[in-house]
Amino acid sequence: MNYRHMETQAWQVLDRAHYLHPFTDHASLRQAGSRVAVRGEGVYVWDTEGDRIIDGLSGLGCVNIGYGRPELVKAAADQMQALSFCQSFFNTTHPSAVLLAEKLSQILPEGLNHVFFQSSGSEANETAVRAVRRYWDLAGKPERRVIIAREAAYHGSTHMAASLSGIPPMYGAGGDIPLPSVTHIKTAYQYRNGPGMDPEEFGILAASWLEERILEIGPDKVAAFFAEPAQSAGGALCPPMSYWPEIQRICKKYDILLVVDEVVCGFGRTGKWFGSFYYGIQPDIMQLGKGITSGYLPLSACILSDRVADLLIEEGGEWAHGFTYSGHPSCCAVALENIRIMEEENIVENAEKELIPYFRAKLETFVGHPLIGDVRSVGLMGGLEIVKNRVTREAYPYEAKIGYHCSGEALKRGLAFRANGDTMSLMPPLIITRQELDTVFEIAREALDATA
Ligand code: PLP
Repeated sequence: MNYRHMETQAWQVLDRAHYLHPFTDHASLRQAGSRVAVRGEGVYVWDTEGDRIIDGLSGLGCVNIGYGRPELVKAAADQMQALSFCQSFFNTTHPSAVLLAEKLSQILPEGLNHVFFQSSGSEANETAVRAVRRYWDLAGKPERRVIIAREAAYHGSTHMAASLSGIPPMYGAGGDIPLPSVTHIKTAYQYRNGPGMDPEEFGILAASWLEERILEIGPDKVAAFFAEPAQSAGGALCPPMSYWPEIQRICKKYDILLVVDEVVCGFGRTGKWFGSFYYGIQPDIMQLGKGITSGYLPLSACILSDRVADLLIEEGGEWAHGFTYSGHPSCCAVALENIRIMEEENIVENAEKELIPYFRAKLETFVGHPLIGDVRSVGLMGGLEIVKNRVTREAYPYEAKIGYHCSGEALKRGLAFRANGDTMSLMPPLIITRQELDTVFEIAREALDATA
């Protein structure tokens, strides 16, 4: 489709008048004006001015196999033509949802065999919380109510998902978020929470904060621990390898459900199919989203382990929970095709072998940059934390909006480079080439130099 017949400015006028963007300061946007994106291919997006942006973020951590794959378009269209919608009442199912649920069960860690679909990561987290509540009710322990999550976590924007998130600006003025049954612990953010420590010792210390909180609350009152394998929106917070086995041990010891949000880490981001494989996690419940369709259509999944599902199914009767678009046929068909392509083209394995060591080496070249206090990464998720003083680790004042400044400089030069607070994040598509990575890092450096 060619949108060039309409001038950029005309789009901006309409945009300003009617379209409320997610996570956006609309007053600033009014001054700057939106870029109007119209086309994507591979790792690039083009706007109405004909300018090309290299996408260092995979959209929002979702476009893992890149833009413009005709196979996914065809999968969606074929399914729409055959059966555009299927409601799940009256004992009805459809092949795409069944096949996708089966496929996920095959590729996920053992024991995760029961899949509930919805449209977004936020909703998948809502489903997970409702499953946790229901599980403990049916297990005869309704007093297990408290959910422990982590600071700097991001689990979504609905009421419960925002409560699980450890990002205070999301809580708003009303005072009812976070919901009182959620509590947050410090996270495995070594640069701030364990400077100078041996990383593996720090991992054990960071896990001990979970046990400490469990004991403060009383183990019999704790329902679940919610966490991302590595925290993306928190600023690429990647725990040391000692962290997760210790978390797993603590959850087991106190019989607390381990709920792992793989909305970003799933589908290859860490160099393994799932972050749970990378870190050796065996979740009781897992949430997937984003990369499940490579962002072509909205779909998420909440997967229950046999332990949880068996009780819900055998003892629970009807579970009064669901969405109009649960298991939407075209979304499921696109996810199946996306997984087929990823397997056929060895996309995760290639990323692990060919790209991730290169990506990490490129990131490491920023050690010593006058603006960068910390460099961290796992797989193709990397973060460069900007500080005012590298010796004292003093941050810039919030009002300086230093990260936004830097992402603006990058975008001017044609790179999507996200600010998560003061951490500049990169999460390129898994199909990016080394040459394209060179461009990403070249522009990232220019943007940082222009910000310093
Ligand atoms: N969980 C994680 C780890 C995320 O990063 C996100 C979104 O960025 C979500 C959940 C929420 O997903 P959605 O935006 O699809 O609701």
